[in-house]
Amino acid sequence: MEPRHILKFGNTSIHYSLTYRERATLAIHVHPDLRVSVEAPLGSDPAEIEKRLQKRARWIVRQQNNFRKYSLDFPPRQYISGETHRYLGQQYRLKVVMNDNQPDAVVLDREQLQVNVRKSKERARKLVEGWYRERAHEVFQERLALWYPHFERFGFPQPELAVRQMRSRWGSCSPLGKITLNLKLIMVPKQLIDYVIVHELCHRVEHNHSKGFYQLLGRIMPDWGERKEKLEKYDFG
Ligand SMILES: [Zn+2]
Repeated sequence: MEPRHILKFGNTSIHYSLTYRERATLAIHVHPDLRVSVEAPLGSDPAEIEKRLQKRARWIVRQQNNFRKYSLDFPPRQYISGETHRYLGQQYRLKVVMNDNQPDAVVLDREQLQVNVRKSKERARKLVEGWYRERAHEVFQERLALWYPHFERFGFPQPELAVRQMRSRWGSCSPLGKITLNLKLIMVPKQLIDYVIVHELCHRVEHNHSKGFYQLLGRIMPDWGERKEKLEKYDFG
């Protein structure tokens, strides 16, 4: 195992792994999952490494914040009580109740997302993700049914819908007309989900991002640009 190190920057503790390699310079990597790994030349002086990292600390934190905001991965969560989780643009506090006598369940009320779980934290994660998946299927289907009538005149049937965790896209439309949506969309407001659905429906008519594509999109959803920007800047924190 790589040793764990901690770099202090104001009130922030940056955890990082350090490996020594045959290389000329120090390299700092900030990964999309927020991990920080440092590679130092063999025989580097630890105090010197620390000093170099201290100088780059602001940059590291900024990179992490960018990944936190713009990554399409699920936001990192520990699945412990008190954490906030998003659903359709609202924030809910997670409450994990460990109880061997009750069936596993996820219950959403006005303020909190409660998970009844018999065993571990890992199980809480599975339950919440399964719940998100179920809700996503239902909500996305409902939004698709709402927007499809705008496209009926083009003569294609209401597309089949799939939900997946995707790293780099919010949605896609296959040549056969199946629409796949990113599971993470269940965390944002419905008007932003609608933008992705309408965008993909337009691809049933215009396959590329041609002029005709944007004309169609603008006719059906005049404020699509605003929605797109909101989605791109959406803070999942
Ligand atoms: Zn597109």
